[in-house]
Formats: sequence, structure tokens, C-alpha cells
Amino acid sequence: MITKVNKQRIYQIFKTLQGEGAYIGLPVLLIRFASCNLRCKFCDSYENWSNPGKDFSPEELINYILTNNIIDSVQNVSYELNDYLLMFTGGEPLMTEDRQAFIVEVSKLWNEYSGKDFVIIETNGTNPIIDDLVYCNNIKFHFSISPKEMRYQHKYVDTYPKLVDQLNNMNVNNISLSLKFVYESSQTQEFILTLVEKVRNKAVGIFVMPEGATREKQLNNSYETLLFCAKHNLIFSPRLHILQDFKEKEFIG
Ligand code: SF4
Repeated sequence: MITKVNKQRIYQIFKTLQGEGAYIGLPVLLIRFASCNLRCKFCDSYENWSNPGKDFSPEELINYILTNNIIDSVQNVSYELNDYLLMFTGGEPLMTEDRQAFIVEVSKLWNEYSGKDFVIIETNGTNPIIDDLVYCNNIKFHFSISPKEMRYQHKYVDTYPKLVDQLNNMNVNNISLSLKFVYESSQTQEFILTLVEKVRNKAVGIFVMPEGATREKQLNNSYETLLFCAKHNLIFSPRLHILQDFKEKEFIG
């Protein structure tokens, strides 16, 4: 059991609409950690690798959110601050036990302020999770696991999403998970299908998104991705933040 929560380095905080996967369209307060244990060649937040940003305790982070006018990447929405779900993303949110304990504390504080008891964690799934995160009484965590292929790493590292096995074996009611794959080409298919086989009978949403950091690339890759989803009974997900060009982001530090 971890009792001490160390400060963690945060790189970005902004309000937006979730652009992909199981909770697409919902208003989220996105908190991006600095640094990641992987080095994906297609990473769209690679700036985080150099560990930029500012260190916050859980209390300091919530205080920052409540006392600053946090930028909204989507114009003309009329949500109040307490309408937003917390969403942690990377850099890798689950990279260390310290970081996971930090997520639990921030989530509890956000729950006290907003009444929201549901928190989304976007993760590459390569790190095991601590009990405090799985058995948290007040909060239901959703793990949106985005497995990465080894062939896309700069170095040879194991990218198998161990979290899938760990969560599948737990049978805990207050957590949920979904898988979110990026479809690049037919070369990706075997990787996706091998992992899908492991969770096919579980209550897990499996989403496949077209690869592409620009609107044009997204649209070009969409049809092949759609056909793959249709053939294997998977859910196609667009990446709205790219298609709609959600640009505004607040960088910390
Ligand atoms: S796991 Fe995500 S944040 Fe980390 S390098 Fe890969 S794409 Fe970037």
C-alpha cells in the first residue's frame, strides 16, 4: 500500500471533447504527464519524452485547475468546469507506482469538487497497476489501453500490454477497460487480431482507428480500416481531434 504521494511532472492541461474510442464526444479535462517508457515512431506527443512541464502535488494540481482559466480546445461549447471528466494521458500515466498513486489522489479531489466518480486513463498498458487504483472505493477507473507494436519502437523493447492480462484476471466491478488500436496497414492486422483473441469473450470494447496525424491521412486510411473492422467485428473509431483540428492546448511550465 502506497501512502506517500510524490509530486509528478505535468506537461499539458486543457479542456476538450474526447476525440476517439469508447467515450468519444464527452467533455474531458485532459491531464498529460511528461515522459513515457516507450518511444513510438508515430508518437503525436513526443515532446513529452524530454520531461518538460512542472511538478505538482495532487492538491496543487486541483488548485491550478480551479484558479486558472483552463484553455478549451473546442470552441463554443457551453460546459461548466465541473461537467468535465478527468482524463489522464501520456506520456505514460501508469509508468511508475508513484504516478499511479498520484492519479488516485487527484481523482478523489476532483470527485470532491465535481461529484464525478468516473475517470479515464489512456495507457500503453505495459506497466502493472497498483491495488490502490484497482480497489479505489470512490472512483471507477476506465483503462483505455492502446497497445503499441514492437516494430515501431526506436529500441527493441517489450511492448506487450500486460495490463490486459492483469485486469482480465481481476474480475473487479468498479474498473472497466477498452482496447484502442491504430490501424496503419495490412501489416498491423496480425498484431491486432492476436490481442483481440485474448479479450474476445470479455466485456471489452475494441476500437480500431485509422493511422494518420493529418486530416488527409486519416481520411485516406479510413476505408481500409473500416473494412478490417467489418470483417472482424470490431468497432471503427475516427480521431475527431485530428479531423476537426482541435488545436488549442495549454502547455505547463
Ligand atoms: S506509448 Fe504513447 S506517449 Fe508513449 S511514445 Fe508511444 S505513442 Fe508516445
